[in-house]
Amino acid sequence: MPIFYECDRCTACCRWPGEVRVTETEITALASFLGVTESVFIDQFTRLNQKRTGLTIVEQPGGACIFLEGENCRVQPVKPQQCRDFPNLWNFPGFESVCRARPVELGFQEWRERIVAATGRPPPDAFAET
Ligand code: SF4
Ligand code: SF4
Repeated sequence: MPIFYECDRCTACCRWPGEVRVTETEITALASFLGVTESVFIDQFTRLNQKRTGLTIVEQPGGACIFLEGENCRVQPVKPQQCRDFPNLWNFPGFESVCRARPVELGFQEWRERIVAATGRPPPDAFAET
């Protein structure tokens, strides 16, 4: 049975170090949401990623994402896919020790529906029922 992780909204994943990739499409949506041009958005809110292959969201001085305000994401309705996908469609060994999402065993169809609701997209083929 697949496991769906129900987010606790603890915001830990918005505070720990790491890059948050943003695609061109996401930049368009984020800039529009914030009411700035894409050029301004790129200047103010992104930097080149470490591999120099794309853009990542900049951090606050303490390391938290620039869009974290208190316990809330300032760009929640248009937050990047990378944020939406964690921890169900990507995570890392031992993530359970730093993420408070609650694991729930579901039937495949319900799991798929919850994935779509949480991430805004169907699970990739690699997650298909075997
Ligand atoms: S964009 Fe929002 S959800 Fe993503 S890391 Fe930043 S604050 Fe968290
Ligand atoms: S995904 Fe995990 S770490 Fe991120 S807010 Fe939800 S419970 Fe917290």
